[in-house]
Amino acid sequence: TEAHITAVEGFDALNAYIVQTPEKALEMADAADAKIKAGEQKGMTGIPVGIKDLFCTKGVETTACSHILNGFKPEYESTVTQNLWDDGAVMLGKLNMDEFAMGSSNETSYYGPVKNPWRKGDVDTVPGGSSGGSVASVAGFAAMGATASDTGGSIRQPASFTGTFGIKPTYGRCSRYGMVAFASSLDQAGTITRSVRDGAIMLESISGFDPKDSTSIDMAVPNFEAALTGDIRGMKVGIPQEYHLAGMPGEIEALWHKGIEWMKEAGAEVVDINLPHTKYALPTYYIVAPAEASSNLARYDGVRYGLRETPENGGLIDMYEATRAAGFGDEVKRRIMIGTYVLSAGYYDAYYLKAQKVRQLISDDFARAFEQCDVILTPTAPSAAFAFGEKTDDPLAMYLNDVFTVPASLAGLPGSSVPAGLDADGLPLGLQVLGKPWDEETVLKVSEVIE
Ligand code: GLN
Repeated sequence: TEAHITAVEGFDALNAYIVQTPEKALEMADAADAKIKAGEQKGMTGIPVGIKDLFCTKGVETTACSHILNGFKPEYESTVTQNLWDDGAVMLGKLNMDEFAMGSSNETSYYGPVKNPWRKGDVDTVPGGSSGGSVASVAGFAAMGATASDTGGSIRQPASFTGTFGIKPTYGRCSRYGMVAFASSLDQAGTITRSVRDGAIMLESISGFDPKDSTSIDMAVPNFEAALTGDIRGMKVGIPQEYHLAGMPGEIEALWHKGIEWMKEAGAEVVDINLPHTKYALPTYYIVAPAEASSNLARYDGVRYGLRETPENGGLIDMYEATRAAGFGDEVKRRIMIGTYVLSAGYYDAYYLKAQKVRQLISDDFARAFEQCDVILTPTAPSAAFAFGEKTDDPLAMYLNDVFTVPASLAGLPGSSVPAGLDADGLPLGLQVLGKPWDEETVLKVSEVIE
């Protein structure tokens, strides 16, 4: 823990941590030490981790990197973090992220961008998003693991950009209680670690039924580490033909091909599959997610949380307007406007309802594909990490980053990103492994074989 506290301070230039909690960390490490001496050690006991600022931590500022939650100190702990503390994990601090988890490059944070420890020659690159602080801290050895959240790819894409392992479990596996809501039907907690084994241990710790979240599922959590047998002989690995995008960089295709060869060498059978509605996933996501966001973010009114702006001689409505104008960043406002539009009378049927129907078709595609295979293998993202500012003026180019991650989110499936190679500039690239609902074990097993 002491070494990690030093690393957290030393890596300040990455801007991965927005709150550091060294005293708390030392206290927790002492408590963990006592547990170890008493023979009560669990997988996470004494392990120093960083917490994405989306998770409420009792008494420790939690803002989801938005100005509107300025100074907000929750009265309660999120279930995911409570599970970690119950297992003896140690908190190093709160990690930077895109504001309300909206973004793919960690450039929308109120606290400024996070730097990827991997540079393209002399040029700094983005860590991906929205879990930019989570991946940068783990890749930069300033945490042994980090919590993260994935609504449309925010665990897997940044893991790919930083050579870390990210896993998002099945929707409902981890409690959303105390997780600042972005799009509630998609949000799912997960982990960032440097190895698949670490990921299995940490994921097991944060998983489990929670009566405080109505979408949490009451199912036993398997011993994920025990799934790492290295044996995938006879397993069927599906390759979705629709993921061969026109104009995809040759390096990404080549990496995918390498992954397919590794699967065959390990004794798996590779089968071509079809996910015919793939091309509708991105537009569907960018209707459903903003719709839910616009509703969830209505609660930030200057009364209940954080920031309050009170214009002179203004009334209640002026206070709402001034608070929300000053408190939300551009990307969040864009999402609120899109979401409000697609939910409004007259457009609801044409956009939101249509998107919900297409979401079901995408889900059905996966269900059908999984009759032919046990896992699906694809690239995680269509490119490696890019430079700061490269896509900030073009939201559509930014949204395209999520093309391979969004479909599984819409279907609620478990998925990982495993470091699988480097591009010509020496930047990391990841492969994505998707599994059947509740089959994180197979996702982990295949991930470890790739690693
Ligand atoms: N990049 C996607 C978005 O901006 C996904 C974000 C996420 O998974 N939290 O919505």
